[in-house]
Amino acid sequence: MPVEHDRTPWHAVNIAELTARLETGSDGLGSSTAAERLEQTGPNQLEEAPPASPWALLLHQFRSPLIYILLLAAAVTLILGEYIDSAVIWAVLLLNAVIGFTQERQAEISIRSLMRLVSPQARVIRDKRELDIESCDLVPGDLVLLESGVRVPADLRLTSTATLFVDESLLTGESDTVLKQAELLPDTTVLAERSNMVFAGTVVTSGRARGYVVETGADTVLGSIASDVRSEERPETPLQQRLNRFARVIAYATGAAALLAFAIGLARGQEVTEIFTTVVAMSVAAVPEALPVVATITLAVSVRRMAGRNAVVRRLPAVETLGSTTVIGSDKTGTLTENRMTVRNIWAGGDVYDLNGESAIQASVDGDDALSLTLLAGVLANEARISSGAEGYSATGDPTEVALLVAAERLGIETDDARARYRLQAEIPFESERQFSGAICRVNGREVQFVKGAPERVLAMCDTMLTGEGVVPLDPERVSTVSAEFAGRGLRVLGMAYAPDLPLDMPLDDTLDPQGLVFLGLQGLLDPPREGVRESIEACRNAGIRVLMITGDHAGTARAIGRDLGIASEASRVLSGDDLTSMSDEDLQQAVLEVDVYARATPQDKLRVVQALQGHNQVVAVTGDGVNDAPALRAADIGVAMGRAGTDIAREASDMVLTDDNFVSISAAVEEGRVAFENLRKVTFFLISTGAAVILTILTTLVLDWPLPYVAAQILWLNLVTNGLQDVALAFEPGEKGLMRRKPRPVEEGILSRLLWERVVVAGLVMGAGTLFLFDWALGEYGTLGQAQTIALTTMVIFQAFQVGNARSSTRSVFRISPFSNPFLFVATALALSIHVAALYFPPAQFVLRVEPIPLEAWLRIVLVASTIIAAMEIHKLLRRPAG
Ligand code: ADP
Ligand code: MG
Repeated sequence: MPVEHDRTPWHAVNIAELTARLETGSDGLGSSTAAERLEQTGPNQLEEAPPASPWALLLHQFRSPLIYILLLAAAVTLILGEYIDSAVIWAVLLLNAVIGFTQERQAEISIRSLMRLVSPQARVIRDKRELDIESCDLVPGDLVLLESGVRVPADLRLTSTATLFVDESLLTGESDTVLKQAELLPDTTVLAERSNMVFAGTVVTSGRARGYVVETGADTVLGSIASDVRSEERPETPLQQRLNRFARVIAYATGAAALLAFAIGLARGQEVTEIFTTVVAMSVAAVPEALPVVATITLAVSVRRMAGRNAVVRRLPAVETLGSTTVIGSDKTGTLTENRMTVRNIWAGGDVYDLNGESAIQASVDGDDALSLTLLAGVLANEARISSGAEGYSATGDPTEVALLVAAERLGIETDDARARYRLQAEIPFESERQFSGAICRVNGREVQFVKGAPERVLAMCDTMLTGEGVVPLDPERVSTVSAEFAGRGLRVLGMAYAPDLPLDMPLDDTLDPQGLVFLGLQGLLDPPREGVRESIEACRNAGIRVLMITGDHAGTARAIGRDLGIASEASRVLSGDDLTSMSDEDLQQAVLEVDVYARATPQDKLRVVQALQGHNQVVAVTGDGVNDAPALRAADIGVAMGRAGTDIAREASDMVLTDDNFVSISAAVEEGRVAFENLRKVTFFLISTGAAVILTILTTLVLDWPLPYVAAQILWLNLVTNGLQDVALAFEPGEKGLMRRKPRPVEEGILSRLLWERVVVAGLVMGAGTLFLFDWALGEYGTLGQAQTIALTTMVIFQAFQVGNARSSTRSVFRISPFSNPFLFVATALALSIHVAALYFPPAQFVLRVEPIPLEAWLRIVLVASTIIAAMEIHKLLRRPAG
């Protein structure tokens, strides 16, 4: 890194001095120099808000009504002198906190590492080549390229610009965008007026530029004024909220039940110690300790699975919302289609040229015929680059523009030659909002302007056209007919025009709005649908999810592609941006119910469509890639941004980023979202149904004035050790086959559906009755409470092992699911059973759990009785099927 002697501020040094001072140049830095500098300057990022301290996170684990109950139980048992039980409960509390803590950390770490997949990138020139690097690796002296949608990665001194507008509101609070240029400024210029600099954190809203990095990380203006701009809060996910609500309900219910038990005991004249023991046992039984931890695991598993299918979730709630998505609004280009364009047809001078086969058409750089000029316009108003090599072309830039270069080369126009001959003076880069791009070039002492863009847009700039007979008055009908014909075949159509002799020194504002041009011709580009998208759309439809296409392209093209993909039919109504503008919100509300294709739609139109759909209580996922798509992405329930083609701003506003930009990944994520919710539901059903059985047995013995069927430590054993292994394993259930053939889950539906609540009651009754039956039998048969309690406990353990199988599907028979399709669960169940049997024989365990070996005859009865839960659940599945 050069030592700074010169204190002239960056905006006041000329480029030669600047590059000398930064020891860089127009070829960019070498990668080894860059690496050395990075060592010295440190990464280009602001201090992140420190992650929550481990202690805070650990303490956080105790902040749940469920844990309060356990704390109370631990205290009561301690006071009563039940030291073993008390110790067990304390141990459980600690264990639970540790597991919860490590799980949350794990989840956070894995999400962070996934986020790195979609971390901000910067386009730089290094080793004379254009490449994308992680923004945090930028160093002073790097030559950076900017385009619309980029969040400026560091403070830059600009060297060239093309209609560059920047939103600096983050720094200045000023919401109007600022026009930037590269000219030298006086030393005294204040920050807000340093138009030859752009600052880290601000946003390029349109245009292009190049500039050298002058400051990075904490040395940037942003770094000096705000260290907390990027601090992220972690709001609770709806799922966590729902779980917390669930926990509160359980806590209150437990409290009420405890009071009731207390009253019954007192009325009976039982000893206070005995009553307390019962109440403690019941409270412990009622608490599904594992639920919060399992919820975290389920979400983490799902996030990882989604990443494996090219969808990176940026906000956890998205996992859950994805599962209930009812409408997906997708861009066309790049998401539904390949974004690999080739020019198929050209219309120029009244003739249609077909580029499909080999042809003898010949154009030339200095030709002044319509075909040559149409191709030239495509080459000159163009930011892409190609170089032809042995096996075809290698290219950088917008695929639409690359296709135009390739077409020109194929028909005999060398693009390098053309660019050398026509020296670029100024350009208007393509922006979706503008729908055209332009270039002003100097050739033979004249200035020529070339324009290419959406045909309607270009036609509006023309009043004449070039035909075989020379320049004639414009016939827009004729052009539109051909354009519609191209579009009807699914081609993306661009119109080309030019002004052969521009008045010199046109003011910039006039070149932004060209007038009086000569229309040259049309080029039709084919962009084939992506593989698998058709099937994926079909799958969405089967899953009750509507798929809409919202595109900036022409209505005819959109309809043709929509028809190809099964989104629309020939007769479908297509709404265009103009239609939308003239529609009231009420009309739009009506229209969105039946219209599936939206063409020439602006980002504002997209936002309105999303809102109209939400007016019908739809859960909307929408894709977006441009700067202005951010509001629609935020408004949507699931904002989906593109990892490759998208802008930083769209990604920052999104809930999910597709690493492959592919529609198929959206539907995969929806499927995984459904799996996640289903799995959580399965775990909850399993935990609640076995918990209900335990409570039922305790309540019944209380009412019948029997001895307690389990001691508190045994209940914890059930909840945490035997159950605990299996509920975690249930979070790894693979998705069920029929999942994408069901209707989306109603958003307002709780974790358990009504049907599942009903099933909880049935299961609780069956398991409770079975356990009580054997408890009663054992009391009579063996006469000791210890033996009877061991048998009751073991019955519950075996019930659980069967019930976890039942819980694997809410609709399908357990006999139709392979026990090996979730190896975790198979192992966990085997492990739970072995541990339990071992405990019966292991003296320390016998002491803590107060268990003893069970006679074979009793074992047989236990297994027989426990198998009734399979029968009960199978019958319930047969009789009661979920709607839809
Ligand atoms: P989408 O990405 O939704 O397909 P765009 O906003 O990219 O739509 O494009 C809208 C229209 O702008 C296209 O139909 C085409 O006519 C025109 N267009 C697209 N790309 C370019 C470009 N690079 N230069 C000039 N015009 C373009
Ligand atoms: Mg596009």
